[in-house]
Amino acid sequence: MSAPSPQAPLVRIRGLRKSFADHVVLAGIDLDVAPSQVVVVIGPSGSGKSTFLRCCNGLEVPESGRVEICGRMLFSDGQRLPEAELDLLRQEVGMVFQSFNLFPHLSVLANIALGPRKLRGLSRADADSEALVLLNKVGLAEKAHAMPASLSGGQKQRVAIARALAMKPRVMLFDEPTSALDPELVGEVLQVMKLLASEGMTMMVVTHEMDFAREVGDVVVVMDGGVVIESGPPETIFTNPEQDRTRMFLQAVLTRG
Ligand code: ADP
Ligand code: MG
Repeated sequence: MSAPSPQAPLVRIRGLRKSFADHVVLAGIDLDVAPSQVVVVIGPSGSGKSTFLRCCNGLEVPESGRVEICGRMLFSDGQRLPEAELDLLRQEVGMVFQSFNLFPHLSVLANIALGPRKLRGLSRADADSEALVLLNKVGLAEKAHAMPASLSGGQKQRVAIARALAMKPRVMLFDEPTSALDPELVGEVLQVMKLLASEGMTMMVVTHEMDFAREVGDVVVVMDGGVVIESGPPETIFTNPEQDRTRMFLQAVLTRG
């Protein structure tokens, strides 16, 4: 396997389609994400954003179209990699969900160190010391031995980000990472995401945080009805969108409480 050239997209999606029974949820999505690019995906509820991200790390199997990660085919027209290879490729793609999904019976440190021990084959000592570095990065070094239940939502989400980073992913997917948080806790999570972006992490982020999209996004992708209705630099999408549906969606989000 040859490494992709620096210019090659890290994520390349073509003609992605997915239905649940007779309900078409993704009706043909094309998208390239370049290394270090931050793509922000916005759109109304039910437009297929979560399904789209889930197809990008193999949690959902699309019925047709292609998904390539780091130059390797995850899916092509219903064909998928064998499960073992899929698992390896999934390690290249970190995902953070709205609900933090930490293991409740493990300490913060153990939550982060588990994947590297099981899947990267690190010793406990090495996995723990890497986990501490990551906890430091997300500002929670003092919580290493705390249990998840004792943390605030914002702290849990920062641990979830550290846990995803522990697998050394090439791409990070975020699905409404701040939607379950009290408003005063949103900023600390966005701050960590900004730091990752500034370090050159390639990211796909579904969010309703329009200030984040404007400030951190390189490209904003607007989904509606299972298709990308437009995409472009945040400045263009927010000040001069082509589509009336984009305008209406932005108006609804920006005037919300
Ligand atoms: P969004 O994240 O933009 O709100 P989703 O991708 O979650 O959109 O959902 C898009 C549509 O797909 C919704 O109508 C949802 O009900 C449907 N859907 C999502 N997952 C499933 C599933 N596992 N089974 C059946 N329908 C689903
Ligand atoms: Mg969703």
